[in-house]
Amino acid sequence: MAAIEMKHIVKKYGDGFPAVNDVSLDVADGEFMILVGPSGCGKSTLLRMVVGLEDITSGDMVIGGVRVNDKAPRERNLSMVFQNYALYPHLTVFENIAFPLRLAKMDDGEVRRRVNEAADVLELHEHLERKPANLSGGQRQRVAMGRAIVRQAEAFLFDEPLSNLDAKLRGQMRTEISRLQRRLGITTVYVTHDQTEAMTLGDRVCVLRKGKIQQVASPRELYEQPVNLFVAGFIGSPPMNFLPATVDGARLTTPFGTIDLDERRAAAVAGRDLLLVGIRPEYFEDASLVDEAKRPLGTIFRARVDVTEWLGDQQYAYIPYEAPDAIRTQLRDLSKELDAEELRTQAIVSIDSTSRIREGREADFWLDTRKVHVFDPHSGDNLT
Ligand code: ATP
Repeated sequence: MAAIEMKHIVKKYGDGFPAVNDVSLDVADGEFMILVGPSGCGKSTLLRMVVGLEDITSGDMVIGGVRVNDKAPRERNLSMVFQNYALYPHLTVFENIAFPLRLAKMDDGEVRRRVNEAADVLELHEHLERKPANLSGGQRQRVAMGRAIVRQAEAFLFDEPLSNLDAKLRGQMRTEISRLQRRLGITTVYVTHDQTEAMTLGDRVCVLRKGKIQQVASPRELYEQPVNLFVAGFIGSPPMNFLPATVDGARLTTPFGTIDLDERRAAAVAGRDLLLVGIRPEYFEDASLVDEAKRPLGTIFRARVDVTEWLGDQQYAYIPYEAPDAIRTQLRDLSKELDAEELRTQAIVSIDSTSRIREGREADFWLDTRKVHVFDPHSGDNLT
């Protein structure tokens, strides 16, 4: 096993915009690191440079303390699991798993021992004599993982390994990968565009956008303390609401009423006149369900509910809002610069399933103002 250090890695295809733009990232020995970001952000390119399938334009790739920029993939001793599994259709499951060991000319007894061990871990024993065509998607995925774990590789690399599976199987495989990684304790880099996978699998998550790292943090920290609008909007489902607000001292005026900031937040917004307030859907509650004792800790506002969605354990309510024209125009110009998500004209709130709010009616909502984030609309930075 080995640590992976990426130092100022740049990848340019032709003379275009760099697909990976000065990425420095350390993956500790035994760590499970997720690379996540929207399509085209450079995550697969970065992974392919770790494995050696792509040349590095500049920067250093160091694996186990050794610079590997000029080493061929097979000299790096890494195991990669691809999206399409890359199984050999004419070989049995046993021989697919054994493939890298046969390449290394390992003796037969040792091959059998290692394949059986992998089959134990992955519960593949009853399928060892089958061909890949006769397996389900999840079983094929496990064979691909078996092939990766039979070798004593320095690290595992996964490139969207679950994207071809249906939702239920994806959930199961997610748990399996997580269990397997913990059990083997092997350094792992895992690429996905799915934020649920990112949040549930990794020790740490690296969020990429346009070839640049936005934030590297634990899933909890990403969720609770996103560094900018991009991370805040990308992590979390349904996404964080961004409301325009004007500032007067410690008081923000939003389309839903005023929010009085605590001292720390007030200091962070001093001297500004326009902001975006970030509010996760669950920071809201149906005011009639909030304890008397808790009420003064937030603010209550009245709004008309457009649509509700009942999910059993909770419900979502969509609340349209209008921002004053002046703010809207200004924000539209700024958001072009930011390339931020469309500024929505409705807020999504997540409230208790027992709430009796009704579509088309007004209701009182309580907002936990202690949790709100405040973003600079120019830079996108989280000021809180
Ligand atoms: P996805 O989730 O869609 O796979 P990604 O985040 O993995 O996206 P990459 O595949 O790494 O993104 O691509 C990053 C950028 O580099 C994209 O703009 C892509 O068009 C470009 N790119 C990738 N491969 C090549 C190539 N072989 N030649 C030229 N440009 C490329």
